[in-house]
Amino acid sequence: MHVGFIGLGSMGQGMAANLLAAGHDVTVWNRSPEPVKALQAQGARAAETPAEAASEGVVLSMLADDAAVRAVILDGGVLDALPKNGIHANHATISVRLARELTERHAKRKLHYIAAPVFGRPDMAAAGKLNVVCAGHAASLERLQPLFDAVGQRTWPLGDDPVRASVAKIAGNFMLASAIESMAEASALTRAHGVSASDFLEIMTQTLFAAPAYQGYGKLIAESRYEPAGFPVRLGFKDVGLALQAGDDARVPLPFAGVAREALLEALAGGDGERDWASLATIAARRAHLDERDAD
Ligand code: NAP
Repeated sequence: MHVGFIGLGSMGQGMAANLLAAGHDVTVWNRSPEPVKALQAQGARAAETPAEAASEGVVLSMLADDAAVRAVILDGGVLDALPKNGIHANHATISVRLARELTERHAKRKLHYIAAPVFGRPDMAAAGKLNVVCAGHAASLERLQPLFDAVGQRTWPLGDDPVRASVAKIAGNFMLASAIESMAEASALTRAHGVSASDFLEIMTQTLFAAPAYQGYGKLIAESRYEPAGFPVRLGFKDVGLALQAGDDARVPLPFAGVAREALLEALAGGDGERDWASLATIAARRAHLDERDAD
């Protein structure tokens, strides 16, 4: 299938490469040129503008946040370039508000907006093992299935309203933030009483919390391995903010999200925006002055 792909960041690079590997004809666009060159070397065509990447009628995007989607998709002429019945599938994690606006703005032009956010970090994107949560126009979802198969291990459809996929992704990332913050605080507690984070987290992640999220992030915390980031504090802060905004809009209190937001904000203030969000463990340790205690 001919497909445009916009946004070749940590996630988009691997996804576009997997579309090429599956035999699709991929035209890519990215704001900065380096990732475009890497994809060209793998057989992609380079578009001069985001609009050009959309001109064949099916375009996928994997941009950072709401602001990037507005700048590239709405202000970049993508909707003007898509032919009637064209499809735009957005894989990024964006606000419920913008998902609703995009749904309406595409529909007004007889275009189909598909929300297709993903679970999985850049290594999973590179391996084609993402979990794709999607919602939107049924026939378009069917048309996109071979593309989702190329980037993901499984597709999780949630019906015809794109907002549903957006909110499921936001809620899932809120759960991840809560898991990281709880491991951060609990391992600060054990450290203060002489049990290392790695000993404690090994017990927990091999027993009661033997699930991928706890095991993956628990390992990063146990090894204090926060760079290079798979998912940076900067994007985690964005996503917890999206959960709080979606909660405000629907009158759903999310007290844990407030705690996670403050911890992520503290990390950002300390200049850690590009470290992995598992580095919330260092914030919990700092609040307890653990490093000073160790030095005594
Ligand atoms: P990233 O590495 O920061 O890449 C962001 C992409 O957006 C880059 O292509 C960047 O272009 C582009 N971009 C940002 N601002 C822009 C602007 N104003 N105009 C044009 N392009 C702009 O992020 P990522 O990790 O790939 O994540 C992408 C999305 O997937 C985010 O919504 C994130 O929350 C979500 N997500 C991430 C993960 C993860 O583990 N990383 C997992 C699931 C979902 P440049 O290359 O020019 O900077």
